[in-house]
Amino acid sequence: MARYTDAVCKLCRRERQKLFLKGAKCYTEKCPIERRNYPPGQHGSGNARRAKVTEYGTQLREKQKIKRMYRLLENQFRLTFEKASRQRGVTGENLVKRLESRLDNIVYRLGFASSRSAARQLVLHCHITVNNALVNIPSYILKPGDVISVRPKSRKMEVVTESLKRVSERQIPAWLQLDKAALKGTYLNTPERADIP
Ligand code: SF4
Repeated sequence: MARYTDAVCKLCRRERQKLFLKGAKCYTEKCPIERRNYPPGQHGSGNARRAKVTEYGTQLREKQKIKRMYRLLENQFRLTFEKASRQRGVTGENLVKRLESRLDNIVYRLGFASSRSAARQLVLHCHITVNNALVNIPSYILKPGDVISVRPKSRKMEVVTESLKRVSERQIPAWLQLDKAALKGTYLNTPERADIP
C-alpha cells in the first residue's frame, strides 16, 4: 500500500497550521510551527510575504489541508470524495463525516494512538477490534453504536499506554465515549460538521 514517507512537519508549515501529524511532539514547544510558521524551502519566508492567493488557490489549499490531516494520498482522497458525492446531502459535509467515521481516525480520536498514522499502524497490525471482531482495514466506516477496542493481548503495548496517558491534552469529541480502563470506546453518533474541530 502506497503511503507518504517524507517529513511531515513541512506539510504543516506549508499549510501554516498545525495538522497534528507527529503525535506527542505536536503538543510541545518543539513543534516547528511554533518557531517557523512560514512555508518550507529556501524562499519560504519570502513567499509568505508576497503570496497573492486566488480563489482556486484557496480551494486547493483547503483540499490539501484536509487530505493531509487525515493522511490520505490523492487517489484515496478522490475515491472518498466520489463516495461522498454519491450520498444524499451536501457533498462537503458528507466528505468530512465520512473521513471522521474512518476506523483509523476514531482510534486516534479515542486516544489509543498519538497520531492518525500510528492509529493506522495499530489497525493494520491487527490490534483493534470492532464489536469484538478483528478489523484491519483503516478506511473501515463505523456506524453509530459500534464499539472499538484494543485487543486484550495488545493492551500493554507502549504505543497505546503512552498515548492514553496524554489523552487529556486532546479533547475526546462528544460523539465518542471512552472507557479508559477497559480500553474501549463507543461511536455514539455521526458528527455534524459544526461538531468537528
Ligand atoms: Fe505539525 Fe506536529 Fe510537526 Fe507541529 S510537530 S509541525 S503540529 S506534525
